[in-house]
Amino acid sequence: MTAKPDIYDITIVGGGPAGMYAAFYSGMRDMRTKIIEAKQELGGFMRTYPEKLVWDVGGFEPIRCEKLIHSLEVQARTFEPTIVFGQQVDQMYKREDGLFVLSTRTGELHYTRTILLCAGRGMTQVQRLDIEGASRYELTNLHYTVTELSRFSDKRVLISGGGNSAVDWAHEIAKVAVEVTITHRQNEFTAHEQFVAQLKDRVHVMKPYKISRLCGLGDRIEHVELIHLVTGEAAQIEVDEVLVSHGYDRDSGRLVEWGLEKSEYGAQVDVQMRTNIPGVFGAGDFITFESKVRLIAGAFSDAILAVNSAKRYLDPSAPHMANVSSHNVRFLEKNKALSNLEQG
Ligand SMILES: Cc1cc2nc3c(=O)[nH]c(=O)nc-3n(C[C@H](O)[C@H](O)[C@H](O)COP(=O)(O)OP(=O)(O)OC[C@H]3O[C@@H](n4cnc5c(N)ncnc54)[C@H](O)[C@@H]3O)c2cc1C
Repeated sequence: MTAKPDIYDITIVGGGPAGMYAAFYSGMRDMRTKIIEAKQELGGFMRTYPEKLVWDVGGFEPIRCEKLIHSLEVQARTFEPTIVFGQQVDQMYKREDGLFVLSTRTGELHYTRTILLCAGRGMTQVQRLDIEGASRYELTNLHYTVTELSRFSDKRVLISGGGNSAVDWAHEIAKVAVEVTITHRQNEFTAHEQFVAQLKDRVHVMKPYKISRLCGLGDRIEHVELIHLVTGEAAQIEVDEVLVSHGYDRDSGRLVEWGLEKSEYGAQVDVQMRTNIPGVFGAGDFITFESKVRLIAGAFSDAILAVNSAKRYLDPSAPHMANVSSHNVRFLEKNKALSNLEQG
């Protein structure tokens, strides 16, 4: 006998800010919710800048991105959605009875009445240094992102990369390090001009060079060999920490092959966040519509519209939106518990 499929009202593909906020809001709408996230953690692209201060999310004073992810995750879990980690959604088909079946690269199947695509610009992986043996330094002093600025305090730091992130980190790290060198393989940085111009005040710039060898004793890099890409001249610098910021590989997988009307990163949607496939909606960086804003705040707003549309796809008589949270009966018990806590 085959087991009956476990069916959800809404399955959210991707656990970045769009997916997390959608999970909260679908809870407000009494929808049985599942998030499927390809990685082992929620947060999405925000995980690539955890140390950065975020200023442009309404209601928050400048907040460390890591803290914002934590708050979003706590909020996403309010109505206890099912959260599946480590599965990249791959294929979809719609059965004759209207139920969607999603399959993941690991072979699992998920059954759902509606789908909300919050896959951002796809699954992102940092571009690692293509140098033999580099991975053995990843647990010590070879970094692909900055999780704690203090790690670079009073250190000699080499940064490799020429984009906004690399140049931005060069500025930040120069505030705490004793010496910062940035190396780029092109003659010109691609980062904002003004930012690049300010580099020379406190950062040693080497271009066009590329890292050719990491040399160390045991598991720590002690010096780095570089090669000048025009003259072939070799250079060597002593380092305590190496940060590589060469951008990301993005993998949207097969989502865009489902027959969706394609857009810049994923799918085109209408003003109600509906894709061209009935029952499939989108939110966040994955989607495009005329006034799309690729910001965390934009992802929240998309998520509300998409969940409301999914709710009304399932039940056309449902109200256009959830009752506001300050007057929503869904929160009565939770509010009581919170005021008891406050009264101590
Ligand atoms: C350097 C940088 C700094 C930024 N700073 C700010 C800022 O200060 N303020 C601001 O508002 N915005 C900022 N942004 C923009 C912001 O990060 C994005 O707009 C936001 O992350 C988009 O959220 P999302 O949920 O749509 O997508 P993402 O954050 O990209 O999340 C998508 C998630 O989907 C998962 N996924 C992808 N494909 C699949 C699949 N097939 N199956 C399962 N899971 C999948 C991914 O693993 C990921 O977790 C910044 C962006 C960059 C590049």
